Order: sequence, then structure tokens, then C-alpha cells
Amino acid sequence: MTLISMTDMLQRAQAGKYAVGQFNINGLLWVQAILQAAETSKSPVILAASDRLIDYLGGFKTIVAMVNSIMEEQRVTVPVALHLDHSSTVSHCKLAIDAGFSSVMYDGSHEPIEVNIQNTKQVTAYAHKHGVTVEAEVGTVGGMEDGLVGGIRYADLNECVRLVHETGIDALAAALGSVHGKYHGEPKLGFREMKEIAEAVQVPLVLHGASGIPAHQLHHAIELGHAKVNYNTELLTSWAAAVQTFMQFNPTVYEPRAMMTPGKNALVTKVTELLQLLGSTGKAKS
Ligand SMILES: [Zn+2]
Repeated sequence: MTLISMTDMLQRAQAGKYAVGQFNINGLLWVQAILQAAETSKSPVILAASDRLIDYLGGFKTIVAMVNSIMEEQRVTVPVALHLDHSSTVSHCKLAIDAGFSSVMYDGSHEPIEVNIQNTKQVTAYAHKHGVTVEAEVGTVGGMEDGLVGGIRYADLNECVRLVHETGIDALAAALGSVHGKYHGEPKLGFREMKEIAEAVQVPLVLHGASGIPAHQLHHAIELGHAKVNYNTELLTSWAAAVQTFMQFNPTVYEPRAMMTPGKNALVTKVTELLQLLGSTGKAKS
């Protein structure tokens, strides 16, 4: 299988009332673990590289080469998209597309709506020419976004409609109370606003900051039009807990493989569990 855009997988998810999981990568082991879980679960999957981690991950071309090689080595047959997460510049989106990413997110949510629309339009024009899908955002997801910590700002209905209709994006992240990082107390998603926005824009919605959102709220969000759900924090905390526990009981071990494998195994378990929760298990086209 080669990398594909999000178009087909999100349309099928929206029609089938389930969601495709986006999982952020932090290196080779993460790609191996997420793809292993998706393949075993027979589920479509979206691997995401956060724009602020591109240099850490070795650059756009390295990421594309790594994902493509691992797909081949692990004989991956399920649909896989490689997505650039939260890019705040048009130029980075173009670099990712040139390198072979199959999907990008331009996040102009911190800009005035006119600037957001103008920049998103440039990204969609370039991306669609290359068969690449585009996600864009309105409102502010709480917690850390683009390396900045901020409060929640709900997406405005008219701004959502304008962004979708004037730019031709494929998926919309409408911030409605979710948070990047850990939640303090029960998350409060704006379901009334979500319903209005989903009905008005028609394109699949994307839920950012899904780690820690209870199952009943998550399933309600999927019912109302979310076809893509982003996980990062839950993977980070599962990985860290496994590695820390191993080191606590094996303080003299210094071989990287021994130290990191418990983290990789924890990722496989967590991703498998989340795919099940999203309802995408068994949904890969045969
Ligand atoms: Zn996000």
C-alpha cells in the first residue's frame, strides 16, 4: 500500500458513523507501533507529524521515507495517510506536500478570519493539484497549540461556513471545548454548536485533543459529524509510564532496545484500544 489522502477514509467514516484516528509520531518506534496496531485491527489510520517536531524527526523527506519503508517492511495493507499537524505557515504545508505527505493541516485559527481564509485558500490550491487533502481550523483548542498555551475559544458558525465554502477544504477542525494535553475535570464539548456547524458545512469535522474525552461524549461527537479524532497525549503518557516503570525495576539496564520496547508495546496496546473506541476496527477496505 502507498500513502493515500484522507478523502476516501473520512467519507467512509462519516457515512458509517465511526471515526478515523490520527496518532502523532515521535520517531521510528511510534510509526512501527501505530502501523502494527492498525494492521492487526484492520483499521484505516492517520499518522501525523506535528509541525514543531519536523526538525526533531529528521525533516519532511526523512519522515516520508521512514513511513513508506516501514509500510513496506511490515507489509501494511490498511489505508494510511501521512498528515502534517498544526502548520502555521503556507510554506511548510507546501514543503510537506513536495516531500510526499498525503494530507496537511493549515492552522490559521490564531489569525483574523480574512487572513485564515486567504492562506488556507493558497494551501488548498496547491494541495489539491497534488491529490493531497487539507484540514483547517476555526476557534481555539485549549491547552498547548502551536507551542503556545491558551484558553478555549469556540468556533464561530459563520466563520466555519466561510472557511469551508471559500477555500474548499476537506475537513474542518471547529474548536468546541476540547483541549490539547490533560483535562482538568470533565471536558465540556459544545454539542449544540457542533450540530449547527456540522449541518451547515457538510465536510467531516475533526476533533483535536481527544485524549481524556469520555467515551459517551466522543461517540456523541462522532454521531454529529466528527470523522477524524486526534490523539497525542494518551500515547505520550502510556509510553512514558511503560518506560519509567521498566527503568524503575531495571535501573542497571542500558541497552536502548530493552529500555524502549516496553514503550513500543504500550503504544500498540493503546492504539488498538483507541481504534476500537472510535469504531474503525475492521473498517479497512479489503
Ligand atoms: Zn490539535
